[in-house]
Amino acid sequence: MLNKRDYYEVLGVDKNASEQEVKKAYRKLARKYHPDVNPGNKEAETKFKEAKEAYEVLSNPQKRQQYDQFGHADFDGGFGGAGGQGFGGQGFGGFEDIFDSFFGGGFGGRTARRTGPTRGNDLRYDMNITFEEAAFGVEKNIEVEKMERCDKCRGTGAKSEDSIKHCSTCNGSGEVRRTQNTPLGQFVSSSPCPTCGGEGTQIKDPCTECNGQGKYRKRKTINVNIPAGVDHGSRLRVSGEGEPGNKGGPSGDLYVYLGVKPHPKFKRRDNQVLSEETISYVQGALGVEIEVDTLDGKGKLKVPAGTQSGTVFKLKNKGIPYLRGSGRGDHHVKVKVTIPKKVSKEERDLLQQLAELRGEKIDETDKGFISRVKDAFK
Ligand SMILES: [Zn+2]
Ligand SMILES: [Zn+2]
Repeated sequence: MLNKRDYYEVLGVDKNASEQEVKKAYRKLARKYHPDVNPGNKEAETKFKEAKEAYEVLSNPQKRQQYDQFGHADFDGGFGGAGGQGFGGQGFGGFEDIFDSFFGGGFGGRTARRTGPTRGNDLRYDMNITFEEAAFGVEKNIEVEKMERCDKCRGTGAKSEDSIKHCSTCNGSGEVRRTQNTPLGQFVSSSPCPTCGGEGTQIKDPCTECNGQGKYRKRKTINVNIPAGVDHGSRLRVSGEGEPGNKGGPSGDLYVYLGVKPHPKFKRRDNQVLSEETISYVQGALGVEIEVDTLDGKGKLKVPAGTQSGTVFKLKNKGIPYLRGSGRGDHHVKVKVTIPKKVSKEERDLLQQLAELRGEKIDETDKGFISRVKDAFK
């Protein structure tokens, strides 16, 4: 999924490579592509970042296991917490256009202090899936509208490299100092340069594709692999699909929050599927083979003679697959024995015979509701 290279491929190691081998491969690549060794070489920089990301995952046993299982959309169970900055609301809640806040609306009116590269914001996407999709996993394409780095200017916002000039107001420092004489002494205050907004540079010819912003809003289709066994409230992280970073900083992540729609027949408790079937009292007494709905379609369940209402039967390994590890939970079928609300004349005769045979006392005067009410007032 995603057009990201496989981490093993990036490091050039085997899937079964030992921690030592992973480390060695990374060191080799890091030495080769380190930005200090390749100043200004964009390709080397990308390769370095790629290797670093791959190493961060493959050198951590837990992350590596998750990566092996889920690929680039690694799973991150539970709700809320880490990395979920600025989330909230439906859809893209907390979707913040960092650029707007940086630029204060108009070009030249920047207010931010000069800062280094910053990571892009994380994004949130809410998705509803069916009970079966949660159980067995599903691949979905989602369409998100987000800021993307402008390819034309490679995020610089300038038409060409020549159009990025040192700011003349602050001489490229991004700060202006002001000396104030007060009765208490001399105060030097510094504030972000009003001309360049603290960037230290000015763009003479902005990129026409992105209007000098270095990024623009784009609709993007992202393929998300939902692993089998996820539950309501599960969260998937699609790494690198958040907002782009500033000044070459890494992109944020996209978090997909899953909601599972209720199923008309099944309920879920962890990895168990719960359902109910009804049989008649005659079937309960004599036993019956019934057809039951399972996640895998229709199944057969043998209900033995003498089954009491509320008895639970277990269909082994017919439940929800375990998200981590293999195998499935069980499916529990609760069998309810029903007593008919109305019986026909013929049924009544047979039941009365049955009562006689068993020597059971029954209400022979039960002629219906009205006569019962009348009897009560006698
Ligand atoms: Zn551009
Ligand atoms: Zn300036």
